[in-house]
Amino acid sequence: MTDLSVATSLAASTLDIDAIRNEFPILGQTVHGKPLVYLDNGASAQKPFAVLDAMDRYYREMHSNVHRGAHTLGDRATVAFEGARETVRAFLNAADTRQIIWTRGTTEAINVIANGLAEKLNPGDEILVSQMEHHANIVPWQMLAERTGAKLMPVQVTPAGELDLPSFDSLLGERTRIMALTHVSNVLGTINPVQDLIARARSQGAITVIDGAQAVPHFQPDVQALDCDFYVFSSHKLFGPTGIGVLYGREELLEAMPPFMGGGEMIERVSFERTTWNTLPYKFEAGTPPIAEAIGLGAAIDYLQSLDRPAIEAAEQALLNRCNELVETVPGMEVIGTAASKVPVMSFKIAGLHPSDIGTLLDQQGIAIRTGHHCAMPLMDFFSVPGTARASFAFYNTLAEVDQLFQALRKIQRLLT
Ligand code: PMP
Repeated sequence: MTDLSVATSLAASTLDIDAIRNEFPILGQTVHGKPLVYLDNGASAQKPFAVLDAMDRYYREMHSNVHRGAHTLGDRATVAFEGARETVRAFLNAADTRQIIWTRGTTEAINVIANGLAEKLNPGDEILVSQMEHHANIVPWQMLAERTGAKLMPVQVTPAGELDLPSFDSLLGERTRIMALTHVSNVLGTINPVQDLIARARSQGAITVIDGAQAVPHFQPDVQALDCDFYVFSSHKLFGPTGIGVLYGREELLEAMPPFMGGGEMIERVSFERTTWNTLPYKFEAGTPPIAEAIGLGAAIDYLQSLDRPAIEAAEQALLNRCNELVETVPGMEVIGTAASKVPVMSFKIAGLHPSDIGTLLDQQGIAIRTGHHCAMPLMDFFSVPGTARASFAFYNTLAEVDQLFQALRKIQRLLT
């Protein structure tokens, strides 16, 4: 063991992982007769009782529509729903709940922003993205570029899977109107130095959009310290329910942006001659919102905040270190994404094996990973692979599960190559 892995293992050992795992009922089951080893957290994370119970309680005790103000249940639902917004505000350290907009997830949030910025773009303007973006942070900008005549400028990545900073510097310029980058890569696990890149982009007058989908499950961003214009994430990767996500935005920009969808809730006054918009954040929240889901996300954040965050981060790094130590025990295994600063995500290939076969055979052992292009086809092209196998960890995973993964990989490698 290296000094670093000894240190992280010691810090991690202050966490009671068994007690934590007991909070996640789904983890206790067997799959194909084997105890479930869930290593697909990057795709979607599991939910603790705190989330399940909060949503159940909402439907049992207070379900009603929000913001109608006509009766007690409606008031209770509104208080819980807006309380969740305040929880998200505090989690991101945003200045005001007006800046916290509910969306269906990261994908919808980026579409809301891209749509809202259309009027700011002219032909020849440039939108900086990177080669390691999820399709959710590429396609909406491509659609916007097509609408406005702007151009998409992809920043290169290095063979280790870090952003190529000389490439960033060469592409950032006075034509850059928008910089849209992922905080953490869903394929590589790379943590990008976004605070520095935001400062550089802002000094050129660019609007900055950060995709935090893979960052928030591992660490807490501070949107004021980052000084970004927009920060977005999905609840379901943060141990909360599906169907809801968050768009944080700088207030002046949100005020200036047109709404994404029209309908109830987002209006101040409607007449056939003229309709005016509601105040923030409701201008962007047409229709009945996902009330139970907002409450569930609030409960997920409260649950996370009740844990020892530094110990969790250390435990996650210990998982990653153990993976790195065991790679050489599987002949022909190669990790894609070896950045110096990473969350516990391991994309890999094994010579002679197709990623989807690896996934299927691991599933037979009760081990769930993801295989394929991970909605990052340009990155697959860069690494010249059709896809990868990816094990992505959460704080409830154990070192024993890492060992089980590698034991299974060694077996598959022996049998099939
Ligand atoms: N960005 C990144 C980095 C992601 O990992 C994902 C989900 N895999 C998304 C965006 C899209 O998130 P959602 O499907 O929840 O909208």
